[in-house]
Amino acid sequence: MINGWYQVLIKSKFMSLEGVIRKMKDTLFPIFCVGCNVEGTFCCRECLNKFKANKIIEIDFETNKQERAVYLDKLTALFNYKKYEDIQELIHLFKYEYCEELSSVWQELYQNLFDFKFDYDLIIPVPLHSRRKRERGFNQSEVLSLALLDGFKKRGSRTGINIKDLKRTRYTSQQIHLSGKDREKNLKDVFVWVGDSLEEKTILLIDDVYTTGATLNESAKVLKNRGSKRVDCLVLAKD
Ligand SMILES: [Zn+2]
Repeated sequence: MINGWYQVLIKSKFMSLEGVIRKMKDTLFPIFCVGCNVEGTFCCRECLNKFKANKIIEIDFETNKQERAVYLDKLTALFNYKKYEDIQELIHLFKYEYCEELSSVWQELYQNLFDFKFDYDLIIPVPLHSRRKRERGFNQSEVLSLALLDGFKKRGSRTGINIKDLKRTRYTSQQIHLSGKDREKNLKDVFVWVGDSLEEKTILLIDDVYTTGATLNESAKVLKNRGSKRVDCLVLAKD
C-alpha cells in the first residue's frame, strides 16, 4: 500500500487532478473482472465479448397469457439471471456496492445485444422512492436508461427519455424479501405519473431484474391509464 501511494505521488506530477484521484481510488479499492479476475476493470474486454454470444429472452405478453403482466406488452431480458453468475455478480455490484461506474459495461451490452428495432417515444426508468435514492446514491434504472439512450442516439433515433415524471409515492419494504402475492400488495398504487398526457405514446420501461414482474406491471398500469398505447420493458436479466 505504501509503495502504491508513493507511486501515486511520483506520478501525480505528470497527471491531471482527475487522473490522480482515479489512481488513488484504484490503489485503495482495486477492482477485478467478474469473469476472469484480472485487475483494473469490473468486466474486461474478453469477458464482455463472451457475453455477446448470449441469446436474449423475449416474451410477448399478447400471446403468452400464463404470465400475469397484463399491462405490459413485451419483455426483453438480455440475460437469464440464474444461468449467468457473472451477470448476477455485476448486477449485485451495481446495486448494492454503489458502482455507478458500471455504466460503460451496460452501454456495451445494450449496443451488442439489444436490437433497437423500434423507436419509442420515451424511455422511462422504474423510479426509486426519493429516500431510497438518497440511501443508494443513485437510481440504477436511471443509469441503465441513460446507457440505453446512448445506443438509440448512436442510431439517429428520435427516442426520448423521461426520468422525472413517474414517481414512487411510498417507501416500501425491499421486494427481495417478499413472496409473489406480497410483492403485488406491497406495490399496489405505489406509482403515479405527474407529467403530461401519454396519449398514443409508446414507452420502453427500464429496470435491472425481472422477477415476478410486479414492479414493472404496476408501473405500466399507471402509464397505460394515462393514455400510453404500448408499454414494453427491457431488463438486464430475468430471474
Ligand atoms: Zn475478464
